Amino acid sequence: MTQPTLTPSRQQLVRRLTPSRWWQNSPTPHKIPTIWPLSVLRRHPERSEGPLYFAFVLLLGTATALAQITPPSTPYVNRNLIVLDPAHGGQDNGPTLNGQPEKNITLALSNALRTALTTRGFTVVSTRDADLPATTPLLTTDQRAGTANHLRPVACIVLHATTSGSGIHLITSSLTPSTEPYESSTTIPWDTAQTLYLSQSLHLANDLGLALLRVKIPVLLIRTALPPLDNLTCPAVAIEIAPLIASGQKNIPVTDASYQQRLADTIAAALLNWRDLTHPSPKPVTAPTAGVTP
Ligand SMILES: [Zn+2]
Repeated sequence: MTQPTLTPSRQQLVRRLTPSRWWQNSPTPHKIPTIWPLSVLRRHPERSEGPLYFAFVLLLGTATALAQITPPSTPYVNRNLIVLDPAHGGQDNGPTLNGQPEKNITLALSNALRTALTTRGFTVVSTRDADLPATTPLLTTDQRAGTANHLRPVACIVLHATTSGSGIHLITSSLTPSTEPYESSTTIPWDTAQTLYLSQSLHLANDLGLALLRVKIPVLLIRTALPPLDNLTCPAVAIEIAPLIASGQKNIPVTDASYQQRLADTIAAALLNWRDLTHPSPKPVTAPTAGVTP
């Protein structure tokens, strides 16, 4: 199999957020309304989970549903490795959420997720393990993608936090999934590197969403151009934690450690299930049995 080469260097991404165009390939074309009605996320035929519902469109992206899940053939991946990218850090505080800079919340979530994943046998590489000194040059999203792509992980998880909405936003690239066989690609354009992996990313977001709903955490699926998702050559999902708002109950803020832990445990377990389904462990090679001599 010809290994593709990634075209890494180019100017810093400046992207206009574009809505998803999944409906253009839908058997029943839709015009995306401002407020999206409840819709059903397609279930895996081999599973028995209930349908995943989503509620509405965010300003910057489009809540959407999986139309088809057809993971392309893929090159070598390290099925035990997951890359975490806690967004922001150093000079980039992100917005202040419940009195804390977003960079601290994404880091806390990343550390909780790392522990939960390691407990389940994964190796975890994080684009940052601590807050960077303010004098350290900012880690660009291109550099974060470069780190992840070099390692060929089985999944890449970008972490953000917000005070808008409720529950978890699962964000995937708004690019169009590639239908080309992997082998036919000799060069992967940096700006659209994710297209080859996007079917798997959608599959992963689907599974994470179902797992979160099972533990009563609301989920919103979003497709948008959130750096560095478009540049990642791995199944990639951004997880944005929002407050947990339930009627008649006190709101749980994104800074709540037990909420973060519950999220980390749920995501880690779902990643393990998804990994074992999509990248089953290679069958052990058994020695040929000796023939019976007549
Ligand atoms: Zn953020």
